[in-house]
Amino acid sequence: IVQIRNLHKWYGPFHALKNISLDVRRGEKIVICGPSGSGKSTLIRCVNGLERYSEGRILANGHLVDHRSDHLRLICQEVGMVFQHFNLFPHLTVMENCTLALTRVRKIPKAEAIEVAQHFLERVRIPEHGNKYPSQLSGGQQQRVAIARSLCMRPKVMLFDEPTSALDPEMIKEVLEVMTGLAREGMTMLCVTHEMGFAREVADRIVFMDAGAIVEEAPPEEFFGAAKHERSRKFLSQLL
Ligand code: ATP
Ligand code: MG
Repeated sequence: IVQIRNLHKWYGPFHALKNISLDVRRGEKIVICGPSGSGKSTLIRCVNGLERYSEGRILANGHLVDHRSDHLRLICQEVGMVFQHFNLFPHLTVMENCTLALTRVRKIPKAEAIEVAQHFLERVRIPEHGNKYPSQLSGGQQQRVAIARSLCMRPKVMLFDEPTSALDPEMIKEVLEVMTGLAREGMTMLCVTHEMGFAREVADRIVFMDAGAIVEEAPPEEFFGAAKHERSRKFLSQLL
């Protein structure tokens, strides 16, 4: 459902992504990990068109992710994204955050949009907070709103960029539970996370990146049990 081929990205002279190729099949859950600065966020941002890439190509649900075409708007609708810092609109209520794209982009009537949003707020287990503003919620609740907001667009694939790394331990758990639930229901997921418990339990494959390249790609049992590369082993030993 996502096909990344020979992807390169330069920030000026800096080679941030080096010949990345990765396929995400429908229903598959992939966890990307690696040291800070290895290009994980850059990669994931290229997939939904937030970042331009320099070379190679990305297909998302059959559409070329290409800044020169008008595919991009379509891609943003089909590829959901959840960030480390929630990125909710602070001046809008939870409900308004969730319905904005439905009414503005999808042109769905407001009453219907509210119904959809309520459905997904229930699914992330915060049905009662629709009228609050993001600042009135805990970090974990805000992140669950961000997930619900993405789900409202019924994306074909969900991208997560360290969704729990700004949260306290109790809140990490509630967000991971929602993500695990999504995974169980068959959502296709590409997650950057250092939550190795989640990775072990949920991921079909772990992709380890270092210095802009994919160093190793393996099922969790194999990656955690016997990482092949020195860099992956060093990374894992630092986590534990
Ligand atoms: P972290 O774990 O800290 O989030 P990451 O793996 O997500 O790291 P990226 O954010 O993708 O890393 O960054 C990869 C490299 O690209 C880094 O060296 C970073 O300094 C560089 N970089 C990222 N964004 C830009 C930018 N807008 N301009 C120039 N360099 C950038
Ligand atoms: Mg990052």
